[in-house]
Amino acid sequence: MDKIVVGYWDCPYCKNKGISGLEKRCPACGHSQDAGTKFYLKDKKEYVDQDKAANYGKGADWTCSYCGSLNRYDAKVCVGCGADREESSGDYFENVQKQEEKEAKKQEAKKPQPQQSGGMMKRLPFIIGLAVLIAIIAFACRPRNYAASVTEKAWDRIINVETYTTVSESDWEVPDGGRVTDEKEEIHHYDQVLDHYETVEVEKSRQVQDGYDTHTEYIDNGDGTFSEHTVETPRYTTEYYTEEEERPVYVDVPRYQTKYYYDIERWIPEKQLETSGTDDEPYWDETALTENEREGEREKTYTVEITTEKNKVYEVNISEELWDTLEIGEEADIVVKSGRVKSINGTELN
Ligand SMILES: [Zn+2]
Ligand SMILES: [Zn+2]
Repeated sequence: MDKIVVGYWDCPYCKNKGISGLEKRCPACGHSQDAGTKFYLKDKKEYVDQDKAANYGKGADWTCSYCGSLNRYDAKVCVGCGADREESSGDYFENVQKQEEKEAKKQEAKKPQPQQSGGMMKRLPFIIGLAVLIAIIAFACRPRNYAASVTEKAWDRIINVETYTTVSESDWEVPDGGRVTDEKEEIHHYDQVLDHYETVEVEKSRQVQDGYDTHTEYIDNGDGTFSEHTVETPRYTTEYYTEEEERPVYVDVPRYQTKYYYDIERWIPEKQLETSGTDDEPYWDETALTENEREGEREKTYTVEITTEKNKVYEVNISEELWDTLEIGEEADIVVKSGRVKSINGTELN
């Protein structure tokens, strides 16, 4: 059963404070509770007597549209001016809502506008620092042009040679040309096979109710009183328990198959025919191949050494076309970025 608690109000006319909500008029000046009245509670609760309590919490006070006085829900005429209830212009809760909206608007207007420039100013040193850092890095890494000269040229050419020869291999089947020398039963793969089930204990948890948390709520009745409720909310704790579970246990069962060992002829890498020089006449070592040999891939590398006026030496791998255009002792314009030659005489390097 809810208990009825006395609310309090302040008289706006004579500044009398903490007047009992049961008094419709200020005992000091006679001013009625009005549209600006908001009931509140004191720390020490005062309960309305049992016999009177039944008269409260029945309905909110209504506001007289003529004089603004608050009147009991069951009053037929205004306590302030005697006007008829039919002329009522809303009730206590509507007044409170209007006041709250007004208050919210005032707060909104008072709120200082976020100063964007202020935030910006705080971060400015950091932004400047970052910009300076980026500028330094960009400056250090900027491409630089150097007048330089070609001080060395080198070339290197390789012909990979393969030979046709007999090799031993093994596989699950014999390719064309393979001559079987042996065969064995070997593990081809494993199958996972269900062996049995085992019982395992599994840790589990659940929420269990172990009582109630209670707290007291006060609800404004809008008639100078509040209703006291005791609210109970269930309280839970986590309970741990173990449960048995059946889990399948698998075993790896090897599956055997016949593996063939055989000899077969294959082309395999045999040797490299390499030529190199520091002259301008690269050539391939096209030494005659024997009957069981064939040519594989060809590789070629072209290198130049470039020395700047400040005696900084760069060794660069370049294309054959560019290499052909460069002569030892001739000048070359190079662009260096991050310690690497980016271009020679306007030709970009990879
Ligand atoms: Zn007063
Ligand atoms: Zn009135």
